[in-house]
Amino acid sequence: MPRACCAFLFFFITLASLPTSLTSQIQRQNSRAKLDLLIRGGQVLDGTGADPVQTDVGVRDDRIVFVGDSAKAHVEAARVIDAAGLVVSPGFIDPHTHADADLLDPMRHSNLNYLMQGVTTVVVGNDGGGTPHPAKVFETWQKQGIGTNAAILVGHGAVRREVLGNNDVQPTPEQLDKMRALVRGAMDEGAIGFSTGLFYVPGSFAKTEEVIELSKAAAEKRGYYDSHMRDESAYSIGVLGSIAETIRIGREAHIPVHISHIKALGPQVWGKSADAIAMIKKAQAEGITVTADQYPYEASGTSLDAALIPHDVQILPPDQLVTLATSKEQRAKVLNEIGENLEHRGGAERLLFTSKEAAELHGRTLAQVALQRKQSPIEAALDLFVEARQKKRAGSLAVASFNMSEQDIENFMRQEWVMTGSDGSPGHPRKYGTFPRKIRTYVLDKKVITLPFAIHSSSGLTAQTLHLDGRGLLRSGYFADIIAFDPKTIADQATYDDPEVLAAGIKYVLVNGKLAVDGGKFTNVFAGRALKSAHQQPLPDLPVPFWEIAALDF
Ligand SMILES: [Zn+2]
Repeated sequence: MPRACCAFLFFFITLASLPTSLTSQIQRQNSRAKLDLLIRGGQVLDGTGADPVQTDVGVRDDRIVFVGDSAKAHVEAARVIDAAGLVVSPGFIDPHTHADADLLDPMRHSNLNYLMQGVTTVVVGNDGGGTPHPAKVFETWQKQGIGTNAAILVGHGAVRREVLGNNDVQPTPEQLDKMRALVRGAMDEGAIGFSTGLFYVPGSFAKTEEVIELSKAAAEKRGYYDSHMRDESAYSIGVLGSIAETIRIGREAHIPVHISHIKALGPQVWGKSADAIAMIKKAQAEGITVTADQYPYEASGTSLDAALIPHDVQILPPDQLVTLATSKEQRAKVLNEIGENLEHRGGAERLLFTSKEAAELHGRTLAQVALQRKQSPIEAALDLFVEARQKKRAGSLAVASFNMSEQDIENFMRQEWVMTGSDGSPGHPRKYGTFPRKIRTYVLDKKVITLPFAIHSSSGLTAQTLHLDGRGLLRSGYFADIIAFDPKTIADQATYDDPEVLAAGIKYVLVNGKLAVDGGKFTNVFAGRALKSAHQQPLPDLPVPFWEIAALDF
């Protein structure tokens, strides 16, 4: 049967069996067959991991309505982008950012550092920090506009702080109920999942059982569990103990679990990626959904406090901190613990101060700063922490912590359940370079993974894991979050010395069908939307694929 006939038959059957609203939608499409935008002749990677196909992608309003040979189908568009030599793919989705403040900042709400990496959707609220009251944030986003789409995780730390303060205490049953209600409330307002930062104060004070109970509240609403685990190194329960804890939470709360920025942190656990992967695969075989994200850098970004200072010291009020700094006995005990923690981090040469807030530290390692202060690195760390608290300059002690082995990074990256996530934070180049770096360094230079897999792990896999329906693939009917980049020039340009340099090679970025980057330049268009949890909104209304009716029109 000729193709046109097939299409006619399809059209006829479809019309006959569809409700009138959809019928009129098809008629509307027929009467206005011209597209808004056609991206022609690129190497199209659709986000599923399939090989590239040279073809065309058409957009109308906020949707992809055509994927195929536009010349054959006589498709016309108001604007045609010649994508010859470019790779066309779904916009990237970043499951772990710290863009919370940027998206509310009138100077930074474009999320330009992400747009120029090809990222069209970011998740905020990670590491346990996400607000229990997302509706207010959604409102502000809507009012002032955001450059990328964004979704929110409700954070365990924020929930705990609201009920229990920043303290090392356990909740009563009533307090646990209050925390549960906060998680439920946030999910009802549109949070897509529940995040924890069990390494950080106050999440570190929670027992696993508390986390399981609260995760159940998120699971009721199709949420997932996202964790900066209790220990990525050998601080307390160890990296493998933390993976076991995360899997237990998945099993007992019946919730998909996602490990943030998976790594083996510090020389003491280098090589453990193999055991970690084996544990995760075993849990997956048991039926538990376990996924992870990763940034392609050997340094993590954190603070001197989190890296070295014991948890009970971090929460001391300022007057007690002064006593601590001067009392010989107390000081000796704390210095001892800091010494152990410094070993987990691989030594003082591996901690680089990155905050411009502290010009006297910026660009120096802890070893260099200690030498200058004529102190041991351990003493310098404690005194710097106390001084920063007294001056109320918490952000001044941001550090890049060089603690990963290349072999572990590559081992994790090859796993089919590991996606790209920037964990973008000030002072670390990952905030500006993660996605292009994965392609430049690990696909094109080192050939650790293939390009289709790199794209899949930055789009389709992430959308599926986060339940972002209608996104992450180049499919007719999906939202038009699309990028086109030049494989010859795509690269990260941010470095540890100069971490705020935009990435290169991303030529076009469409967010919900609008061009946010055109010819490599930001268009000043804020087309991002708040992506709210799928449980509370019907699946997106996917129009009848344009190409199936195109044959009738032309
Ligand atoms: Zn984290």
